[in-house]
Amino acid sequence: MTSTQATVGVADQQIDAAVWMEVGRIDLVPVTPPAVGPRDVEIEVGACGICGSDVHRFLEGQWSTPGQRLGHEFAGTVTALGQEVEGLSVGDRVAVNPAVPCLECDRCREGRTNLCSGLRGAEGGLAQRVRVPDAQLGRQIFLMPDSMTMEEGAFLEPLSVAVRAVRREQLPPGEPVLVAGLGTIGQCVVRVLLDAGVETVIGVDTSPVRRRAAEEAGALVLAPDEVRPVVLERWGQTVSPYQTSGALGGVFECSGAPSALAQALELVRAGGFVSLAGLFATPPAVDVNAVVQKELLLRGAFAYTMDDVQEAFALASSGRLGLAELVSDRFPLARVQEAFQRQADTHSTIKVVVHP
Ligand SMILES: [Zn+2]
Ligand SMILES: [Zn+2]
Repeated sequence: MTSTQATVGVADQQIDAAVWMEVGRIDLVPVTPPAVGPRDVEIEVGACGICGSDVHRFLEGQWSTPGQRLGHEFAGTVTALGQEVEGLSVGDRVAVNPAVPCLECDRCREGRTNLCSGLRGAEGGLAQRVRVPDAQLGRQIFLMPDSMTMEEGAFLEPLSVAVRAVRREQLPPGEPVLVAGLGTIGQCVVRVLLDAGVETVIGVDTSPVRRRAAEEAGALVLAPDEVRPVVLERWGQTVSPYQTSGALGGVFECSGAPSALAQALELVRAGGFVSLAGLFATPPAVDVNAVVQKELLLRGAFAYTMDDVQEAFALASSGRLGLAELVSDRFPLARVQEAFQRQADTHSTIKVVVHP
């Protein structure tokens, strides 16, 4: 269906955008870009990462309706801005925080904007151009230094997720911390922990490619079946009432694998933490007695607040984390369907980035 309805004052030049059509099918279709409102910014996308959640949409259809535009991990160049937007100019290179909280609901008022009841998102980064609503500098939009690449800017969103998970826990000085699952979030958690001074970070994944990337960042890496023997041999057992455990100070669960969570609950010492940063496709059967008797802190970490994004941007723009090394594959927008197929292969990829 075509519409002749025009937005006053806007020359509607169509762009190509990746949209969800049905399970297993992402099409590139011509769309009319939405008008840029007084508080909005329009960006020509320089790089857009494909998220694990995008892959679930692609493979299983979660959270998706036909025609929906995709892509929320992106950076680009400002092409247009509304009159009320301050501190930005056309041509600025920017990284985007795509989560737009309402700032008015109960959770927003207590600062937990990640749990906003009216959370909106700037999606549509898998396109030549995208509109970012409520584009406040230092909140939704971050000016990138010349040293920062578009790809590094595209990591702002997943890095913010990792920063939130780490910020919520008290890192036990001198004790080993394990990260289960070395996809993009796990890789970012590894890097944030090492940057925060954690001496021993153990990264676990079935994929040798993913293990190698974490090892190059400074983690000790293990395959899942090596974890139990190596952790018990190197750091020994710990004993608490009714429980014998490993000596891990904490675990960041980023894999969504029930067996990894079971292992975490066994190997973390009494009083330690297990941070849940990954979603589970199948509900895990958990030994709740270990949680009770070891007084474990079993805590969820979901998305990110403004504080998390600001800290993530400081880290990403410093260049210290080696984020560029996490890009395993690059595709032009014209091959976006292939890019999704590639990202669905969790064994040989880390982050697939699309360059529109
Ligand atoms: Zn994401
Ligand atoms: Zn809210």
